Amino acid sequence: MSRSAHPAGPRHGDVLPEGHYAAPPADLNVLDPKVWARTVTRNGDGAVTVGGLDVARLAEEFGTPAYVLDEDDFRARCRAWADAFGKDADVFYAGKAFLSRAVVRWLKEEGLNLDVCSGGELTTALDAGMPAERIAFHGNNKSAEEIHRAVEAGVGRIVLDSFQEIVRVAHIAQSLGMRQRVQIRVTVGVEAHTHEFIATAHEDQKFGLALAGGQAAEAVRRALQLDGLELIGIHSHIGSQIFDTSGFEVAAHRVVGLLKAIRDEHGVELPEIDLGGGLGIAYTSDDDPREPHEIAKALSEIVTRECEAAGLRTPRISVEPGRAVVGPTAFTLYEVGTIKQLEGLRTYVSVDGGMSDNIRTALYDAEYSVALVSRTSDAEPMLVRVVGKHCESGDIVVRDAFLPADLAPGDLIAVPATGAYCRSMASNYNHALRPPVVAVRDGEARVIVRRETEEDLLRLDVG
Ligand SMILES: *Cc1c(COP(=O)(O)O)cnc(C)c1O
Repeated sequence: MSRSAHPAGPRHGDVLPEGHYAAPPADLNVLDPKVWARTVTRNGDGAVTVGGLDVARLAEEFGTPAYVLDEDDFRARCRAWADAFGKDADVFYAGKAFLSRAVVRWLKEEGLNLDVCSGGELTTALDAGMPAERIAFHGNNKSAEEIHRAVEAGVGRIVLDSFQEIVRVAHIAQSLGMRQRVQIRVTVGVEAHTHEFIATAHEDQKFGLALAGGQAAEAVRRALQLDGLELIGIHSHIGSQIFDTSGFEVAAHRVVGLLKAIRDEHGVELPEIDLGGGLGIAYTSDDDPREPHEIAKALSEIVTRECEAAGLRTPRISVEPGRAVVGPTAFTLYEVGTIKQLEGLRTYVSVDGGMSDNIRTALYDAEYSVALVSRTSDAEPMLVRVVGKHCESGDIVVRDAFLPADLAPGDLIAVPATGAYCRSMASNYNHALRPPVVAVRDGEARVIVRRETEEDLLRLDVG
């Protein structure tokens, strides 16, 4: 072993990501509060704690890999979003980022509404007691059965995504003797600053009805004619992991343009505008997300200005943050299993999870950071790639990051900012058992989603 031979920076031949990690952080033991949940700290003896609990004890009690979620942080972020938008706007948490019954109860208690995009999410929301009128139902191909359940339950809004769905929802509502409140999802031709695969508002995509070419206006025409529907507004979602409100500015301008066209053609001013989600979080120290109150102020100014210019009453605004609420609140705790050093090339650190608990790196080239959390170390920084245990060479958790050169099997490392789109996108690849979500608060830890068992796997296998 020649770990001590690592200089205090990337070695000649090390493969570095463009523009990032050109130099290691000054002190690997320091946890950047930007990327870690609020109550995560390193105490005097070097142990990392969350909610007052030692992470090594959590690993002992609940096993690894595990998602550890800071409940205080989650609740505080809900309140920050609710307070920032105030009583003249609505915040819908995007349940697809991570949903469980506990999450639904926290949302309910902290005053947020909830977006669902499947029958399963709807069931979870209703089962945990979210009032139906605080639920919005999304999706580009909701089944007739899902629509039926949503309408019957009395969801506050269904976001219509296609011409077929306009008719489908209207018929189902009518058959139930109801009138469903709906919004129409439009694509405004904005490609938010983000990775191509997670940008959704340019026109060549499966979601929504395009403003360009008149699809959206035609959808409004049809929806206004159907008795089963009450058209309350227009919806636009422009992408993911967005740091800059200029994309929202263009989107709002175009949506308000449609509201004006609707007023001119039909004599109605729609009362609501939903600007979607997609607000960014810090995955690494390089990311600088804006605070909810700054975003709220910017969005409300943009919409007010556009409406004034168009001679319209300012509609009620809603937003749908998912990642920005839950993402920063959790980290994934892993145990290091093997370390493979390829001299002059790369060091692979294998953990006991991987793409089955975090597909985002493989899927989107997502960036993450990582830290040694079971102890401190004064060893020099070592550039590593953190990989999983799956039979796939793209099974990467953290592409390039620094860990101390004395890292050894049995050490616990944690990847912060994994609250969003990790457990919710987790898979059973290689018959992996999906990890638990452990919520911590005030010195207490509680499993809110339990670890899958081999029994769970075999229960589905009925052949
Ligand atoms: C995914 C999605 C969101 C949430 O996106 P985040 O990046 O998690 O904020 C909100 N609204 C719609 C319609 C979505 O598809």
